[in-house]
Amino acid sequence: MTFKTLGLIAPLLKAVEKQNYTEPTTIQEKAIPPILEGRDILASAQTGTGKTAGFTLPLLQILAQSEAIRRRPVRALVLTPTRELAAQVYESIKTYSEFLNMRSAVIFGGVNAKPQIATMQRGVDILVATPGRLLDLHSQRIFSLAKVEFFVLDEADRMLDMGFARDVNKILQLLPAQRQNLLFSATFSKEIKNLAGRFLQHPVTVEA
Ligand code: AMP
Repeated sequence: MTFKTLGLIAPLLKAVEKQNYTEPTTIQEKAIPPILEGRDILASAQTGTGKTAGFTLPLLQILAQSEAIRRRPVRALVLTPTRELAAQVYESIKTYSEFLNMRSAVIFGGVNAKPQIATMQRGVDILVATPGRLLDLHSQRIFSLAKVEFFVLDEADRMLDMGFARDVNKILQLLPAQRQNLLFSATFSKEIKNLAGRFLQHPVTVEA
């Protein structure tokens, strides 16, 4: 299996080549095709399996293949439990989108909000965020989530462990009904399955 046979477009293949990845990892092989088909995904994957590229590459492809929206409202939202993970996912998005015309940003708490506000006011296609800062800036009407087409909940189990269940529910209510959803989690408790059932539509289950 190669990245090309998974159906990735040339600008993404070029970015992957630049990383010297010789072949897709298991999670990438299993997750990329159904995501490209527009399906919702329930994925069990630990860190280190290549899960970030597993959702970032198809996400970028889907956005790149539809018309850019001129004023750049947020079209994809990736929610992570920690700022470290948010920063990592953001770096991956930057890496894989090098040959695309895509703007992305990351926002998280514990740092000055001003530069984040300025970035969001200029408009971004893809936003990576932790729940608290996202809700904070959204409540200040810095940006809208009404045009989100693609929602990723990364490390859902840690999200719940850290007490973000209510914030996640609030965020889900800010998103339009019509969208593609991905949930990644290392473990599958009853709570995770519950959460998944609340926002995934006919998901494809994939395991790393
Ligand atoms: P992740 O599980 O997303 O945190 O990724 C773990 C590490 O694997 C990261 O450093 C990636 O750069 C790397 N990686 C992702 N996909 C591949 C691949 N197909 N081949 C080799 N390394 C990869």
